[in-house]
Amino acid sequence: MVEILRKLEEAGHETWCVGGAIRDALLGNTQQDVDLATAAPPEVVRQLFRRTAPVGLAHGTVGVLEENGTLHEVTTFRRDVQTDGRHAIVEFGVSLDDDLARRDFTINAIAYHPLHRQWRDPFRGHDDLRRGVLRAVGEPAERFREDRLRILRALRFTARFALAIDPVTWAAAVDQAADTGHLSAERIRDEWVKGIGTARSPEHLARLWRASGVAAVWLPELTDDPPAVALPARPDPVLVTALFCTPCAAVWRRLKGSTAEIRRAEAIDRGPAAPASGDPRDVRRWMAQVDMAADDLAMLAHWRGGDATTWPDEVERVRARGEATSRGALAVRGEDLLTADIPAGPEVGMTLQRLLDRVVDDPSLNTRDQLLALARQRA
Ligand code: ATP
Ligand code: MG
Repeated sequence: MVEILRKLEEAGHETWCVGGAIRDALLGNTQQDVDLATAAPPEVVRQLFRRTAPVGLAHGTVGVLEENGTLHEVTTFRRDVQTDGRHAIVEFGVSLDDDLARRDFTINAIAYHPLHRQWRDPFRGHDDLRRGVLRAVGEPAERFREDRLRILRALRFTARFALAIDPVTWAAAVDQAADTGHLSAERIRDEWVKGIGTARSPEHLARLWRASGVAAVWLPELTDDPPAVALPARPDPVLVTALFCTPCAAVWRRLKGSTAEIRRAEAIDRGPAAPASGDPRDVRRWMAQVDMAADDLAMLAHWRGGDATTWPDEVERVRARGEATSRGALAVRGEDLLTADIPAGPEVGMTLQRLLDRVVDDPSLNTRDQLLALARQRA
């Protein structure tokens, strides 16, 4: 990264490290991909380097590939000249300070020059980081009016670094939360997914979505009282959403999730959420009933109930023992039943279901001979 910066500087273009990587480095987390801000116009950046990618040319961003394959975004100093709450028209040929002034939060508006070992921090992002405060650069209400996505970014960064939101910034976010309704579902989904993936505690993020009023617009299913559970690092977004939102399929439909995400969420909603008891037979019956949602529901129950909820362990034991809980795991297939005098047609499916019910109650029946005999008996 320093090599890219040096090359730009040697060609006479002032260049700084900026944005998230600087913030993260100050917090003690070094990052691979450091964003650079430069006085050089995008065409010049493209000419100077052999391997570049037009990441976001309209916004002045050129991706420059380092020898080791890391892509660094090099963005020309810019200023937003016109905004409508969603899109901005940018102007180049401005100074580093202008560029920092159009950034969203003080902690994201710090620049560092590794060759001169110099900092530029006009909005006192260092102080806010030290105090643990998220504060908009400039006048918060104006900054959120320019770009409503910043409201969601505020919630995400606050939960990610366990910050407190500066009161004026918070008031402006609450005041304009309803206007996030004009943003696209895809951008909201990205923020929600990134947010729950990076939050130190996802429940903090859920509370912020609720308290700000953003949830009323985009996640009305979000519970008023999100459970405080210890989640693994980078938890599955479908599961975390299910933990906080009932029903959860509506969320993925509204946020234009993938068909797979919507299907999974529907199966979770359908439930039932738990077997009648932790008895292996009840657990197998329940697994046969909820089918592909079994592991998701078991994980949710484990998160909610902690170690006191032991039946999810039985789900694992059922799997480890290889006991059948779906038709596909039976020792006979539909075509085998034709040899047992079951006529082709709906009776095949009904018989398989009947056999599955028997096997779920007694796994030792799951052999080809026994199942064909049972099928013949029509019992
Ligand atoms: P992350 O770790 O999530 O990537 P980041 O701070 O790098 O955090 P990016 O979305 O990659 O966030 O943006 C890089 C930088 O660009 C930010 O640090 C911020 O200075 C600026 N920025 C990004 N989005 C906006 C926005 N909507 N309004 C103003 N500035 C923004
Ligand atoms: Mg980034």
